[in-house]
Amino acid sequence: MDWREFDAAVRSFGDYSVYGSSRDQSGAALCAMVRNDREKRLAVAGDAGRFSGEEKGGVKLCPLTVENAGALMELFPYTRPRSHRGHPFTMGLGDRIGLATPGQIRAIAGYGVFPVLAQQSIRELKLTNRTFPQVIAAAAFGVFQEGYKDGYGADGDHLKTTEEISYALESGCTMITLDCSEHINDGAACYDEAELARAYSGLPAEKRKYYEDKYLNKELPVIKSMDSAELARVVLVFSGAIEHAVSCYRYIAENAGRDVDFELSIDEALAVTSPSEHFVIASELRDAGITPSSVAPHFTGSFEKGIEYRGDLDKFAADLAVHQMIADEFGYKLSLHSGSDKFSVFPALHRVTGGRVHVKTAGTNWLEAMRVIAEREPELYRAAHRFALAHHDEAAKYYHVSTDPGTIPNTDLLSDAYLPELLEIPASRQLMHISYGLLLAEPWFREPFFRAMHEHEEEYYAGLVRHIGRHLRYLTSD
Ligand code: ZN
Repeated sequence: MDWREFDAAVRSFGDYSVYGSSRDQSGAALCAMVRNDREKRLAVAGDAGRFSGEEKGGVKLCPLTVENAGALMELFPYTRPRSHRGHPFTMGLGDRIGLATPGQIRAIAGYGVFPVLAQQSIRELKLTNRTFPQVIAAAAFGVFQEGYKDGYGADGDHLKTTEEISYALESGCTMITLDCSEHINDGAACYDEAELARAYSGLPAEKRKYYEDKYLNKELPVIKSMDSAELARVVLVFSGAIEHAVSCYRYIAENAGRDVDFELSIDEALAVTSPSEHFVIASELRDAGITPSSVAPHFTGSFEKGIEYRGDLDKFAADLAVHQMIADEFGYKLSLHSGSDKFSVFPALHRVTGGRVHVKTAGTNWLEAMRVIAEREPELYRAAHRFALAHHDEAAKYYHVSTDPGTIPNTDLLSDAYLPELLEIPASRQLMHISYGLLLAEPWFREPFFRAMHEHEEEYYAGLVRHIGRHLRYLTSD
């Protein structure tokens, strides 16, 4: 079969058209993504035995299932996620609705960034009622649709236990972001001197000796030296997290059977990460034989979802410079979480890290989808806005936001043309940002939402190119 015959066979199924960029051949198999007004499918001719779907005229029309994605990955290995080892600039993009990949691929073109297209936390999986294999399948089909062959990663984000890690690895994740927050003793970060001394003396003597021998009265790289109160605090706050990180890393090394990018995240600790804390964590990992791919400290200032950085930019840059020296000393990259819309910190991030950095964004992909809805389906947007407002307290349980819901405009008083502007006002932008899970669980929203997104996908891709492109411009310029 040639492509002309392929196209004719595809048309015999109805009003389907082929995505030209997706056409590819492997052995006797011809493959392409196709769409009509209602749905998207994978069309396969020739050697199609491993795919399941409806067959007519020598072409199989396959639904975009996890199983068919697996078959696609076997046929075209570039659709399978892989480790980003060796790539200096990497970016987690995330896609909560499974539609963003083609737009994300277009957005990164020319920026020399390795994308982690599939990136989801367990919390996000639960809120969107998806599985890791579904998230990765959506990325694989998007990669195939665009004919993108430069590789992408899949991040099991903010995983907390070996059970979660095991699930992510089995599903094909190539990056594991370990969230140690449940093993960080945040309370000890605020102890006064007396409380600190009391709690520290309560630790086993050999544990204290272990840390004191290594860090007290020693000439240390980058941070020079530590005093005993500083060390006591680090040990009290972080020693549990360090032990957890070591055991999780060993679990990955023993069970993955492939290269996995290991990120340690302490960004959810309540306190800003101090240089001594970062140094001790890094050096304990090294002494356990572990070099993470990246570490995400809790940086100074506020990194709330979906809005600009709030804090002192000079202080951020100075703080970042010390963390970068520690990362250089121990041979990994820094990672910045909640990177969506933090344009003001990007130039410093690029300058200080020398472009060797991992940046995570995710929520903006959903907000760009809602921009399409605001522009194309104003009534649906109004209904979503009212629903989000009515369920604000419930949504705010999942994400920390500080904007005042009292400043959100009343959509009943706004003309349709103004609705997209709601996504520019911090309070209404955050409101929509945190409500994705609740909205997607509502059939009255879900069905018309996905119908409209299918109809207007090119507009969605253009929005992602504009918005993610803006991130990349700042992330690559001094
Ligand atoms: Zn994080």
